[in-house]
Amino acid sequence: MSQHAASKKSHGNHWPIVVALIAGVLVGVILQPYAHPAGGGEAPGWLTQMLEIFRFVSDLFLRGLKMVIVPLVVASIISGIAGLKSLEGFARMGLKTWAYYILGSLVAVCVGLFMVNTIKPGLVEGKPNPTLKAAMDSALNSKSGAEVGNLMKNASGGASSLLDIVRRMIPTNVIEACAKGDLLAIIFFSILFAVAMVLVPGGPPTALRDLFNQLADVMTLITTWVMKFTPLAVFCLVIPAIAEVGLGILQNLVPYVLTVVGALVLYTFGILPLVLKAAGASPRKHFRNMGDSMLMAFSTASSTATIPVTMRCVMEEAKVSERVCSFVIPLGATVNMNGTALYECVVVVFAAQVLGIDLSLSQQFIVVLLALVSSIGVAGIPAASLVAIIIIMQNAGFSEDQIKASLGLILTIDRPLDMARTTVNVFGDTVGAVVIAKSEGEKLDE
Ligand code: ASP
Repeated sequence: MSQHAASKKSHGNHWPIVVALIAGVLVGVILQPYAHPAGGGEAPGWLTQMLEIFRFVSDLFLRGLKMVIVPLVVASIISGIAGLKSLEGFARMGLKTWAYYILGSLVAVCVGLFMVNTIKPGLVEGKPNPTLKAAMDSALNSKSGAEVGNLMKNASGGASSLLDIVRRMIPTNVIEACAKGDLLAIIFFSILFAVAMVLVPGGPPTALRDLFNQLADVMTLITTWVMKFTPLAVFCLVIPAIAEVGLGILQNLVPYVLTVVGALVLYTFGILPLVLKAAGASPRKHFRNMGDSMLMAFSTASSTATIPVTMRCVMEEAKVSERVCSFVIPLGATVNMNGTALYECVVVVFAAQVLGIDLSLSQQFIVVLLALVSSIGVAGIPAASLVAIIIIMQNAGFSEDQIKASLGLILTIDRPLDMARTTVNVFGDTVGAVVIAKSEGEKLDE
């Protein structure tokens, strides 16, 4: 995006989205008993059709956002780097960004570990909660068993080790990577391409540079068109997400939900503001500037789908440069998942508590390490971390049936928690963009 386009002041009014979100939650809550009739029957036909319509509308919106992502990311990265006079400092920025991501996720995991070991949501009076254990057993035999089975298959086929992640960064076919929306490979190739443009003898080819500048502007304009539908889309996205939560067991899951939400809140409102302050930014202003992006992350439960909105907030509201934003935000949406890392840790320890598995110190260390690494490999789409959780459980010594039972229980309340952790994932990226921009000496509106 050219600085010209980025400097246009945006519409920072979040109220229509907030109202849509609240209305969506209310309608979802009203529909919830019909979606899960007492006695366990099927949902009535009218409700299924109604939810189908909501899904259809929100799908159109999500497809619109996703349509923008690849050209926007490619054009922004290339125009951000190719506009530099020299590449001095670019490697330094890369290193700082990675250091921030890894440190941020490590702290998040520690917050999760601390909360789950303090609240002990899987225990009552020091013993595994029998109601939750019974719910796990019935989950093992229920219809969610098939869903869990599919997840387990994905986990065995798609385990992401650190080496896999590095390997995936280099595309064998750039067109294929774009077609599949493989962001890590796209980011890598775009950086390589832009660096080559700067270093090509005779200086950056102007026609090529103008092309990517203008492409970024056009994609930004399309993003603002798509975003005009945000309130309607948020309303439609939230209704099925809330209506389909299984409330039956929810009462017993309250301590677990409070542990996850409490840890996310502690990290977002306790730790990240300290980071912002240390970087010389105003946390209050940053929260206000990132309103659209956080609301969008919450409603879509997808860091990737939120990229266009996040980039707009970071550049237009916080006034972070295109050079920093175009690198830190798409990469962050792909590899920096503070909320997910924290969540994975809480889930595994919680399940161990319910199942009566005593995780030794070295097993807890494995959980921390794997939560950290797998959060880098997790895709920025809804429910993506469930596969990572299976892998962590396998490595921490859970049996196959224990994993299936745990997942069956967790799935009942996963979507709202996914919305919450995705918001933290995205907010963590925006804090990263501000920290890096400040460290590069940029003057921000924060
Ligand atoms: N939904 C999350 C995201 O897009 C990933 C996950 O934790 O499942 O960031």
